[in-house]
Amino acid sequence: MKLPICLLTSFTFISSQIIPFNEHVVSAAEQKPVAFHVAKQSYHLHKSKRKMGMWKVVRKVKLNRTDLESTSSSNLTSEVNNSLSGEEKLSTMFEDKSNFLKKILSYEQQFSMNSYGGDTYLTRPVEYKKGSIPILISAPHATEHIRDGKVKSADIYTGSLALLLGELTNTHVVYSSRIADDPNYIKGGIYKDTLNKIVSENNIQYIIDLHGAASERTFDIDLGTINGKSMDSETVDKFTAAFKANNITDITVNGTFAAETEGTITNYSYNVLHKNSVQIEINKEYRNPRNDIDSYYSVLNSLVNIVNELQ
Ligand SMILES: [Zn+2]
Repeated sequence: MKLPICLLTSFTFISSQIIPFNEHVVSAAEQKPVAFHVAKQSYHLHKSKRKMGMWKVVRKVKLNRTDLESTSSSNLTSEVNNSLSGEEKLSTMFEDKSNFLKKILSYEQQFSMNSYGGDTYLTRPVEYKKGSIPILISAPHATEHIRDGKVKSADIYTGSLALLLGELTNTHVVYSSRIADDPNYIKGGIYKDTLNKIVSENNIQYIIDLHGAASERTFDIDLGTINGKSMDSETVDKFTAAFKANNITDITVNGTFAAETEGTITNYSYNVLHKNSVQIEINKEYRNPRNDIDSYYSVLNSLVNIVNELQ
């Protein structure tokens, strides 16, 4: 049965709180015109948010009856997102810097809680977010960690970088979720066991292990490949070129952190799992979006470019 348009409109409005299939909430950063098969679009301000003084734009998507029956809001969202490349998605996010910062902080919150001890109620100190391409991003120092009985600081914002990279490029992501023995130092342990399982179940070919170096370090980026063993020089050159293309120019290779010792993720990935791997040390000057969101964006964009190059 075909409902009159006015009736259908009021139906979708009244039911929008109960049945979310006809409503796609978009942030200001997402409001780029995107071509897909939506018959009509209109905008209205979400009443409850308006009352709270938080004006949020809600895009009402009106579909014909067939679309309403066959399309869920999550399908619509993924259809919009899938039409954009990782670079395009990131560029769109970056159009609204304050929203972009909010997004970064919402990802970082799980690590920064308890003064970067992470979620100390979790029984497992490692979490995994599944992807769909054979590249694994690792952030073992997203929270504080314990080395030789001493608490070591977190590599701040490496957790949010890893998760955002996963969202933008569909890489797999593994990361520390709370304080525990240093996964990049001890031999074996639950983090490496999880890594092993992810690699074997998903035919992972590259492992990119993200770390943070102090701002006093003289490099912007240091790439550790066990002195050339865990990644061939042609691939390393692609990493270097991507950073330079994003105006991050002081790149060293096996300069300070070569990931040589047995306990590192890179060493384990290469010597035990026999996969291409690299430890990326990112200077703190490029990691703190509260101080310098442009530099954070440059690092993230470089990583998105690298993932694309590896495919
Ligand atoms: Zn680290």
